[in-house]
Amino acid sequence: MERDAFDMTVYVELSKAECFVCAFLNGDPDYPHITLFDDGEFVAFLNRFPTLPGQALVVPRRHVEHVLTDLTDDEYGRFLAVVRRVGLAMQAALPTERLYLLSLGSMQANRHVHFHVAALPPGVPLAQQQYQALDMYNGVLTYGPGEAQELARRITAALRTPDSPVVP
Ligand SMILES: [Zn+2]
Repeated sequence: MERDAFDMTVYVELSKAECFVCAFLNGDPDYPHITLFDDGEFVAFLNRFPTLPGQALVVPRRHVEHVLTDLTDDEYGRFLAVVRRVGLAMQAALPTERLYLLSLGSMQANRHVHFHVAALPPGVPLAQQQYQALDMYNGVLTYGPGEAQELARRITAALRTPDSPVVP
């Protein structure tokens, strides 16, 4: 997978917003993302700095900062159910050897709780899997014209398939 060098200056500049997730959800044009899922409580959208094709973030609409303590048991259950639905749709839509789920973030830059959902394609050498595959400091993918929209279309189509296991 060819990657472009990660531009930390752009990332730091974008991180100056109070919260990039809330900025996106509030329609700030400086923080555009392609939405995959939105049930009014949780939203999934394509990562703006993907290291794997179709990599997405799943967030609660409510601004919360701590992945366990800021969510009730019920909220956390619904949150993980959405993460699971998006992950199932992603692996239905993209060639996937292993599906990665993880919650990261930084109190200095991106505090809003989010899960990363990323599909590792088949055939990636072991030394380039796991953290190496997810580390944006190893470079990020730049989607070609229409490529992100096409990935989003495939993932959202899988989310909407009536007989898909992604629909409870
Ligand atoms: Zn926020």
